[in-house]
Amino acid sequence: MEAVLSGMMPDELARELSLKPSFRGRQIFEWIHKGALSFSEMTNIPLEFRDSLKDKKILSSEVSLESASEDGTAKITIKLQDNSFIESVLLVDENDRKTACLSSQAGCAMGCTFCKTATMGLIRNLSAGEIVEQFLHLQRKYGNISNIVFMGMGEPLANFAEVLKSIRILHHPLGQNIGHRKITISTSGLTSGIRELAETGIPVRLAVSLISAESDLRLKLMPVAGKESLKQLKESILYFQEKTKKRITLEYVLIGGINDKKEDAVKLRHFVNNLKVIVNIIPWNPVDDLPYREPDEETISSFISTLEDLSIPVTKRYRKGRSVNGACGQLAVLQNSPDPSDSGRA
Ligand code: SAH
Ligand code: SF4
Repeated sequence: MEAVLSGMMPDELARELSLKPSFRGRQIFEWIHKGALSFSEMTNIPLEFRDSLKDKKILSSEVSLESASEDGTAKITIKLQDNSFIESVLLVDENDRKTACLSSQAGCAMGCTFCKTATMGLIRNLSAGEIVEQFLHLQRKYGNISNIVFMGMGEPLANFAEVLKSIRILHHPLGQNIGHRKITISTSGLTSGIRELAETGIPVRLAVSLISAESDLRLKLMPVAGKESLKQLKESILYFQEKTKKRITLEYVLIGGINDKKEDAVKLRHFVNNLKVIVNIIPWNPVDDLPYREPDEETISSFISTLEDLSIPVTKRYRKGRSVNGACGQLAVLQNSPDPSDSGRA
């Protein structure tokens, strides 16, 4: 498969395109991140260069479907080179700040029983370019984006190298220049990945999907992630905290009748001891054919008050994007049919 230019840093572009002098790589990087779709738009590049590059593709993917919801959330379905499909979401907050919710994999191997993406299984990892392109597509359609969350399809720490590379590209000052603290990686709790991330020293924000602080229940809900003990998970979070000195978010998807009782809150209290965390309560978003129910408003408020009474810092995530199935845990493209002869690598 052809190299994906959107997944390259300026020096790599210069090498890939045999550009001399090497500052041409920086110029092309700037153009790609300004949204250029062809070399003919790159007016500060000499004409003979542009001509020689005109058959090269800048983007490897295309938007195949777009759905917007009244609350400002928009979801796009993206077709990749090998005919796999992924989804990305644009979130807009009350201050009109835009956040790109990006996928790191087509599908997911973790099998969380409450999540729609899990029903696809893992199709493949995305390349850095395919991750960056999600951002470029969203920005082209909806305007300047200031924040990024890896909360779309897939487990970002199971595709560590490509996710990290996409962050390097999106952070680059000649391109999108997104600050590290404006980027959040959400993980189902892969402890070696959490440690590895801490060791990079890159100060991105970390969110860990805890879901339950009771080991048997966590294992039932998150069959793969739950195999690592809560003790190991806590140790890895403590390690991250020690290295970065930053507060971590624990995501707690509140599922009606499953993890919404007083004893669940007490277990959570025990887990958060010694941790600098904020617990984010995400009321479960309905997914067809999954055997769960949404918690009612009263249950949500009383669970939150119980956490507050136990002095656990807590926030609640708004239920945005549900009308386009673009809310947390509702992403899946079930007609995925990748071409098996194509490895999809950049
Ligand atoms: N794989 C990563 C990131 C993608 S999932 C992770 O699991 O953290 C992003 C968030 O959506 C996670 O916190 C996950 O627990 C949550 N989620 C999954 N299914 C959900 C659903 N049906 N309703 C609400 N949140 C859900
Ligand atoms: Fe994968 Fe996250 Fe969904 Fe679990 S919740 S299946 S880790 S995307």
